[in-house]
Amino acid sequence: MTTHLRVLRPAPKVFAFYDGRVDGYRFAEGENWVDDGALSLGIASYAIVDGADALVYDTHVTVQHAAFIRKTLADAGVKNFTVVLSHWHLDHVAGSEAFDDCRIISNKRTLDHLSRRKAAIESGEYSGPPVINPLVLPTQTFEGRMQLQVGKLRVELLEANIHSDDATVLWLAPERLLLAGDTLEDTVTYVGEPENFDIHLAELDRLWALRPERILPNHGDPEIIALGGYEKTFIRANQQYIRMLKRCVSEPELRTKPLRDIISAPLEAGWVNLFAPYEAIHRQNIEVVLAAKLS
Ligand SMILES: [Zn+2]
Repeated sequence: MTTHLRVLRPAPKVFAFYDGRVDGYRFAEGENWVDDGALSLGIASYAIVDGADALVYDTHVTVQHAAFIRKTLADAGVKNFTVVLSHWHLDHVAGSEAFDDCRIISNKRTLDHLSRRKAAIESGEYSGPPVINPLVLPTQTFEGRMQLQVGKLRVELLEANIHSDDATVLWLAPERLLLAGDTLEDTVTYVGEPENFDIHLAELDRLWALRPERILPNHGDPEIIALGGYEKTFIRANQQYIRMLKRCVSEPELRTKPLRDIISAPLEAGWVNLFAPYEAIHRQNIEVVLAAKLS
């Protein structure tokens, strides 16, 4: 199950655990959320490590993935694990059982989302197979912001409303490093809450104001992640795409254009890169935006 899971080192104290974007490989036959929302696009979770301490940022798509992460870190000398969840979506929380003896932190909204759907996620009624059973819930919550010490590293947890209304991003101020969860995505963001687009745009300005030097998203290009991550213009690319989706409401001729035309400027600038499966995500995003009847 973890055959294609690879360990990248984007920064000296950072591990990325990347799976997916593997030609011809599927996790399972038929529609399922692991392939369709995660592995087909590529998904990373991260760990920030200093000495015997690790902050594990998301628990990946299966308990086996999470166990692999835990073993890799233990082999590197980690003894104390703290998990932080980026948001409640299944591809980010599925492996939490492998850390059920550890502190698991999320913002309050993430806990609310997961608690409300716990029974349906565990039975498969919520999004079909594979079920996550048991769904291990966060053991500690925060609102707004929280500071964590990982060895000698100071990590800030910042709550945001981007992509989902319960995002938690990690900010390492001295290193100017932002771990963005799903608030930023290469090639384009996966839209679930278009009614909050204006909030997303304003919140992305907040991330821009941090002046990150490097950004690590959970869905992005493994080569760029391996080389240290994205520049802050990645934020502008995501904002421009959201503005284009908003324009698709009033300008029907934009709706049929291929993704490469919709984001041509950010692509030419190298802020993001075209990965073919995102064409289908873009089609789906347009449907979601039109169905939301934004004014
Ligand atoms: Zn995701």
